[in-house]
Amino acid sequence: MREHLESLTKIKSDLLSLYIDSMHGKNEYDLYIQLLMDSLKQYFDIEQCCFLLYESDSTKPVDIKPSISLKLNELPLNDFTAHFSDQGFVSMPSSLCEKIGYDDFTQLILLKNEQLGLYNIMLLKATTKWESFAKSELFSDFVDIITKVFGKLLKNKDIALNESQYRKLYNMTSLFHSSMDIDLILENVLVAIQENFPDLNVELVLSNDQDRQTRVKIKPFDYLSERPSSIEAFVSGTVTIERAHDLNRCILHAPIKGRQAIYGILQVSAPISYVFTKNQEEFINMLAHTSGNALENAKLYHQSYRLIGDLQLINETSHRLNMKLDSDEMFAFLHKQLKKAFKPMEIGFVLKNQEELKMTLGSTDLFHTDEGMLYIQHVAKHFEKNQEALFIADLSRNKGKQLKYNSMMAIPMLIEQNIYGFSLVLHRESYFFSFDSFKLMQSLIHHSSLAIANSILRNQLQEMVDYDHLTKLHARRYLEKTVEASLSDDSSGMFLLIDIDNFKKVNDTFGHLVGDQVLLQISSLLKNVIGTRGVCARWGGEELAVYVPNILADEAIKLANEIIASVPGETNPTVTVSAGLLIWNAEQAVEYRSIFLHADTALYHAKSNGKNRVSLFTQSMLLQS
Ligand code: GH3
Ligand code: MG
Ligand code: MG
Repeated sequence: MREHLESLTKIKSDLLSLYIDSMHGKNEYDLYIQLLMDSLKQYFDIEQCCFLLYESDSTKPVDIKPSISLKLNELPLNDFTAHFSDQGFVSMPSSLCEKIGYDDFTQLILLKNEQLGLYNIMLLKATTKWESFAKSELFSDFVDIITKVFGKLLKNKDIALNESQYRKLYNMTSLFHSSMDIDLILENVLVAIQENFPDLNVELVLSNDQDRQTRVKIKPFDYLSERPSSIEAFVSGTVTIERAHDLNRCILHAPIKGRQAIYGILQVSAPISYVFTKNQEEFINMLAHTSGNALENAKLYHQSYRLIGDLQLINETSHRLNMKLDSDEMFAFLHKQLKKAFKPMEIGFVLKNQEELKMTLGSTDLFHTDEGMLYIQHVAKHFEKNQEALFIADLSRNKGKQLKYNSMMAIPMLIEQNIYGFSLVLHRESYFFSFDSFKLMQSLIHHSSLAIANSILRNQLQEMVDYDHLTKLHARRYLEKTVEASLSDDSSGMFLLIDIDNFKKVNDTFGHLVGDQVLLQISSLLKNVIGTRGVCARWGGEELAVYVPNILADEAIKLANEIIASVPGETNPTVTVSAGLLIWNAEQAVEYRSIFLHADTALYHAKSNGKNRVSLFTQSMLLQS
């Protein structure tokens, strides 16, 4: 008894020395087991013994260190525990000797650590000394000591493993914080898992609003085909573990979660019987979380970078468009901008004039063909009922037939809630344009709409204001607008419609060029006489017209007669003119359209009455004709 106590004290003291001397490290188990084996031999003459080490919540033996010369089989824990009713030792059953592949062991000792849920096994071939010791009171002390030693070892191993994992995690986090390269982040996540769990399969499943082009192999997250456990992890933001019997795999889903959103799932799979330890689960989850934050940072960075780019694009465009370009120049410029920003294959700008669609010069060739018209018509039809911009990712699916171009963005050009045209871009590939591009294009067109509309109106106005090429007088539309405005703004006015007498004869006799000269001569005469008092215009052909606002009837008649009288002296070859005069004022009100008809009637009257004269319109003329 005294001898046993001494042995036990020695063993304790040796273990303590080892504990003090040794550093935590990889070979800790070997050192302790070696010490125990040596002690057993020294104090109890035991030559054959071994320790089987099991890990906590796993039934699979993780580490077996048979004594150097022995090669033992791995066995499930149950094979051993089935023989125990309580802590202590049992004689090694022959069935077990067979299973383990060595029949020299006679005793089986369970080292059960209730606190840690540890079940380690000690096998040995008993000796007389050992038998005596095992029966003594000191035996339970011995078992207790070794159990505790193994408990400590396992804890140390866990700590060391955790330490290395968290060191990696830490290094990766620092890398992530310094990197805005999404690919690099994703690559590192995959590598980290593969390094830490070489037996497991890893996949990244990212929601499809991520950037499409990456070097890293990514599975798109698809609500329709994803496993429920994956969706649950994605939606709830917590880890899920599923035993997928259909795949014969055990799958862990960790959400890749940032502060603002969940970007995907880190999917780790193992054989179906695999048990993920709490540690592994926590590590994978932290990794997914770290990458989620990194991904989010990178996305936000790229987004802010892009937003600045977008603003510059819009700013540059607005600036250029406000430089009073004409509408063709504007479309050419917008074409350039759209091409730069979205890289489409086709670009079209369509203007709507009532029911008519007009392709502009800034459009690509496709839109001047029948094929292009199909797309235009599709968009035009949409905008007939709807002012919402169009964003189509798969036009073939949308139309139910195979089309050449599948991605389409179409933005209406609006002015005061009216669509006066639209811009569209096409690309052959489906899902080519991102939603961000769509928003940017909307913004771009929206900011350009006013400038374009202004330029179109300016062009139209220009047409109206345009001077007649031959006579350099105003065009008829301009005169009409002047008359219309004057009717509401002024208190009176005169309209004089002039037609050259026998002009055909002039042409026939002297030729058209001379005829033109005569027209010009009369035009200058009119301009000289009227000056800024009114507007002179070419009414059409050899008919000219004069409008003077705010003029008394007498003065109007006088002016008209002066003009008629001056013509022969101012023309070469000499011609005369006839004119119809219409005067309006408070007493003689007139409607806009009637002015021209009445002047024409009066002109007809002048012609009928011998030409070379002015006829003042009177209501009685209407009765005559
Ligand atoms: P009247 O007006 O006195 O009845 O006789 P007309 O010979 O002038 O007859 P009408 O007004 O019908 O004919 C107009 C002619 O004016 C016909 C056309 O050859 C000529 N004319 C119209 N525009 C131009 C033009 O820009 N240049 C020239 N040289 N001739 C023109
Ligand atoms: Mg005529
Ligand atoms: Mg004439």
